[in-house]
Amino acid sequence: MSDQRPNILFIMSDDHASHAMTCYGSRINQTPNLDRIADEGMRFDNCFCTNSICTPSRAAILTGTYNHINEVTTLDTHMDNSLPTFVKDLHAGGYQTGMFGKWHLGQGPAHEPTGFDDWAVLPGQGLYHNPIFIFKTEDGSERRPVHGYVTDLITDMTLDFLADRDRERPFFVMCHHKAPHRHWEPDDKHAHMFLNEDVPEPETLYDDYSNRASAAGAAEMRMGAHMVPLDTKTEIPHDLPEMELRKWAYQRYIKDYLRVVASIDDNVGRLLDYLDAEGLTENTIVVYTSDQGFFLGDHGWYDKRFMYEESLRMPYIMRYPRLIEAGSANEDMILNVDFAPTYLELAGLPAPEHYQGRSFSPMLSGETPDDWRQSMYYRYWMHKTHHNVYAHYGIRTHRYKLIYYYADALGQTGAIDETYEPEWELFDLEQDPYELNNVVDDPAYAELVLELKDEMHRLQAQVGDERYHLDVD
Ligand code: CA
Repeated sequence: MSDQRPNILFIMSDDHASHAMTCYGSRINQTPNLDRIADEGMRFDNCFCTNSICTPSRAAILTGTYNHINEVTTLDTHMDNSLPTFVKDLHAGGYQTGMFGKWHLGQGPAHEPTGFDDWAVLPGQGLYHNPIFIFKTEDGSERRPVHGYVTDLITDMTLDFLADRDRERPFFVMCHHKAPHRHWEPDDKHAHMFLNEDVPEPETLYDDYSNRASAAGAAEMRMGAHMVPLDTKTEIPHDLPEMELRKWAYQRYIKDYLRVVASIDDNVGRLLDYLDAEGLTENTIVVYTSDQGFFLGDHGWYDKRFMYEESLRMPYIMRYPRLIEAGSANEDMILNVDFAPTYLELAGLPAPEHYQGRSFSPMLSGETPDDWRQSMYYRYWMHKTHHNVYAHYGIRTHRYKLIYYYADALGQTGAIDETYEPEWELFDLEQDPYELNNVVDDPAYAELVLELKDEMHRLQAQVGDERYHLDVD
C-alpha cells in the first residue's frame, strides 16, 4: 500500500509583502491564484519573521532556530549545510524532496542545498532574465544558463520534479522564487500592466520621520532619493524636491513590483492546476509565504530590515483540505521558526528537541493551545550595511511594539563598525497602526515600558540570546 502522508508544496517568494495580495486586502493589485489558496484554506494574519532579511530568514525557516543559534545573522554569514534541517528529517522519514529557485544561503560544498533528492538554485540573488542556475549532479553541481524568465523557469523545474516523482511516496518540494526582489524586472507578458493608471499611494508615503528615534530618518531606502536607475529603469530626476521625487519614484517602483508579483501569481496558478489535474489537491499541503515583508512605499521606503509592521509581517496562507476549513483565518502569532516543527508534525514525524519554534498545526483545525505565545522576539543584526538601518531588537505583543536600537555591529560579519547612542521606540498599534508616534517617553506608558522590557528580556533569555551591554533595567 502506498504512503498516505500528505505531500507538501512549499512556495516562497522573496520580499512579497502581504499588502500586495488581494486576500490580505490589497488596494493596489489582484492576485487571483494566491487568493485560491486562501479561499480554499487558511490565512494567517499575524505571521512574523524573527529577522527581516533574506538569508537569515531562510536559515530560521530551515533550522527552526533563531539566527544567533544558527549563526546566519546577516547576508554575509552563510549557512553551514551540515546543520540539521526539517528537510533532512522529511527525507530520512521517507519523503522525496526537491528545491528549485532562490537558495541564498551560500554556494559551494559547505553551503549548497543538502537533504534534497534534486535541486537547482540561483547563484546568490540570481537574474530575472536568462538566469544561470546551479544544478545538482551525481558528484556535485554544475552551472549553466537557462533561457527564459526566472519565475516561469523555477515553476517549470518544480513541475518537472513532480512529473518525475515516485507516486508511491509523499513529496516535499520548495518552489522558491527570486521575485519580487529588487530590481523588480517584469517579463514581456506583464509589462503592459498599470500603463495608463496611477497605483494608489500608501498612507505614509510622505513620512517625514518626526516623532521617531533617529533610526527611521537615517535609513537610506527612500523612494527616489536612495534609488539607482536600475530601480526606476530610467534616469532619476534628483533635482526635484524630495516629496515630488518620492511621488514620481513610487509609481515607477510599484508598477514594476506588481508586474513581477503578477507573474508569481500566474505561476502559482499553474502549480494549483497541476495538483487538480493529478488528483493531488486533497492530500497536498500548499503553502505560500515570503521570506519577510517589504515596504511598498510605506514610510516613503522600499526594502525591509526594520521591525516595523510592513517589514516584520510575512504573508502565510495554507491549503490542506483534509484538515483546514475553506476560507478560514487565524490571528495567533506564528513565526518563521515555527514552520519546521509544523511541517514535521503534519508529516507525522517528531520535531527535534533543539527546535526553538513550535508547531502551529493545532490551529489548522481551529484549536489554539491555551499557552500559545502572546509576544514575539525580533533581532536585526546587519548594522548599517546597504541601507543604513541600525541594529535593533524588540518585542511585539498583539497591541504594542517596543524596539531597542543598540546601533552597534558587535563584530557581526557584514555589519559596519560604527556605533551610535542607543534609542528606544514604543508604538501603541491600536492607537497608531502606522507607527508614526513613538510614545516611549510618554509618562502614560511608563509602567507599560517596564513590563515590556521585562517580557523582552525574558524572551531573549529564553531563546538563548544576549542583551546589549547598555540595555540595563
Ligand atoms: Ca527577502
